[in-house]
Amino acid sequence: MTEIRKVGVCGAGLMGNGIAQTCAAAGFDVVLMEVADAPLQRGMQSITKSLDKFVEKQKLALAERDAILGRITPTTDVKGLKDCDLVIEAIVENPEIKTKLFQQLDELLAPHAIICTNTSSLCVIELAAKTKRPNQVAGLHFFNPVPIMKLVEVVRTIATSQDVIDSLFAFAKNLGKEPILAKDTTGFVVNRLLVPYLLYAIRVYDEGLASKEDIDKGMKLGCGYPMGPLELLDFVGLDTTYYIAQIMYDEFKDPMMAPPPLLKRMVLAGHFGRKSGKGFYDYAS
Ligand code: NAD
Repeated sequence: MTEIRKVGVCGAGLMGNGIAQTCAAAGFDVVLMEVADAPLQRGMQSITKSLDKFVEKQKLALAERDAILGRITPTTDVKGLKDCDLVIEAIVENPEIKTKLFQQLDELLAPHAIICTNTSSLCVIELAAKTKRPNQVAGLHFFNPVPIMKLVEVVRTIATSQDVIDSLFAFAKNLGKEPILAKDTTGFVVNRLLVPYLLYAIRVYDEGLASKEDIDKGMKLGCGYPMGPLELLDFVGLDTTYYIAQIMYDEFKDPMMAPPPLLKRMVLAGHFGRKSGKGFYDYAS
């Protein structure tokens, strides 16, 4: 198994800063890399704010907060990742930009190092095949908010070695997470099941089966889900859901995954959910 001591995280956005925080909190030395100072500082501020909340709730001592922050080295230079045993890429969901970064990492890192992507929708093997170490590339798919959500999907491509999978399972457990193994197909386990369910909720709402409130109440009280599907869609973002549905439909050609007409129209109208102030529900006030 690969011994993982130093972890690199690329991208200090929503997911990257959460991943960096989680790794540092578990005792790993972390290098957090961004393209520019401004997003890097925003990422570090988010980490500080998140740790401060744990301190306020008395779940973390002040000294431990400082120790966690001290284990994170921020950088805008990709070369800062040189000594990492594992690099987790969490940059923009753009295959060309990710490919370029994977090639830079492949050139830079030691031969034993593992490279992972946190992508939600791209083929992991497509990125792996652009490196000279496809057997040491895998998906490591975290959930938002990373410091809270327990699950990590470990994604095995047709080239990933068993040793790398074993190392990533051990790593995820060291983070205090519960890993599950998924094949490298779009959506992995969670989105493969969740997205068709959410899309079907839009279809039955559009068909007039029940009011939005009753659809949400039905699934909360009848199934014990913490949120109803329409509430959850507003939370995830209708634009994001539309994008993921298109990619999943493209991969599987399953009509259950095709974006429903109402979803497309809501996205065209700019009704993205909470982030735009309006989705299935209103968030203006
Ligand atoms: P985000 O837009 O919040 O952050 C992306 C960051 O990457 C930005 O700060 C940007 O400046 C930075 N970046 C761009 N190019 C870079 C480069 N070459 N090197 C270093 N940094 C670079 O995005 P996010 O929501 O954190 O998503 C990141 C990845 O995580 C995506 O692949 C996405 O599919 C995946 N993901 C997102 C979620 C989610 O709920 N948002 C959940 C699981 C996985």
